[in-house]
Amino acid sequence: MRFIETASRFVHGFLLATAVACIAGCASAPVESRDARPAQAVASDPYPDMPSIAPIGVRIGKYLDVPASAQGPAIDPAKGYRLQELGRGLYLITDNAIQSMFLVYDRGVVLIDAPQAYAAHIRQAVAEVSDKPITHLVYSHSHADHIGGAKTVGGHPVIIAHEETLRLLKRDADPSRPLPTVTFKDAYKLRVGDQVLELSYHGNGHEPGNIFIHAPAQRVLMVVDVVFPGWMPWRRFAVAQDVLGTFAQVEQIRKMDWDTFVGGHVARTGTHPDVDVQAEFYRDVKQAAATALATTKLGEGLNPSDQTNPWAFYDNYIDRVAGQCVNTLTPKWSTRLAAFDVYIWDQCYSMEQTLRIE
Ligand SMILES: [Zn+2]
Repeated sequence: MRFIETASRFVHGFLLATAVACIAGCASAPVESRDARPAQAVASDPYPDMPSIAPIGVRIGKYLDVPASAQGPAIDPAKGYRLQELGRGLYLITDNAIQSMFLVYDRGVVLIDAPQAYAAHIRQAVAEVSDKPITHLVYSHSHADHIGGAKTVGGHPVIIAHEETLRLLKRDADPSRPLPTVTFKDAYKLRVGDQVLELSYHGNGHEPGNIFIHAPAQRVLMVVDVVFPGWMPWRRFAVAQDVLGTFAQVEQIRKMDWDTFVGGHVARTGTHPDVDVQAEFYRDVKQAAATALATTKLGEGLNPSDQTNPWAFYDNYIDRVAGQCVNTLTPKWSTRLAAFDVYIWDQCYSMEQTLRIE
């Protein structure tokens, strides 16, 4: 009933309009329907108990509002970025969607990531607080949204990354992401002047080679694309290559000793309570998907003529599992994580797949 009452604005209207159009206009001559699809392939009624959150592929007029607690300080539009001091020569650069850092020492500056989005402003940002040269660049991982501005920043810094990141970047052969010149396997301590960065690898989660970057003197921990303070993670747990590995890393982050967390995305830095909330959400998604998998009956409501189509058979099952998972999570989480509605279906589809086949 919840679907009928609240989702009819978009899903029901959208799907039924399609079906009704066909009933009215193409029942007598289905092969002449305007989009020339076979009559049996048009959308029909949604599944029973459809969530009030619009499923993937259904456009809605307005997403849920982002709560103030998830917002960061405003960006000066003339600059296109903001600088946030994290203490003892460590700074955050962000455009409120993506985040990188730099560390100033007596003879130079260490950049940590070089996002495409504001790479052209990174030298300007550094120049706000230091006239020292950029001597080192640390890659958190290989993804272009975080390091695709490395070439734009320029110079010839020592580039430090995990050995898996080197492997992936060799494969990608992207001139905007120069290859690391120093790699490591388990841990690497970077000492520059009186500053220290501790780099460590905790296995696959988001992607192979994604590292933890710890600034012990500043009590700052940066782990990119794993925790999103105040926010729903990007779709499919930030496209995690190993979902359960990502969950395990969130638990590791919780247990570590730091005061400020930098997640590489969203509008603000994080706290221990933010990481606790993310860990709780991950546990809840896992439980909701597990329960849905266990209680949903295979093949229910499937058109009998599709019984010999195993892809359709499981599509029907997985859609109903995901719908139940979304229904379970919506009351508790829709007001606790910004953009819950944008990606909750993606998280439930990802979780059911993880639990069903991994
Ligand atoms: Zn990434």
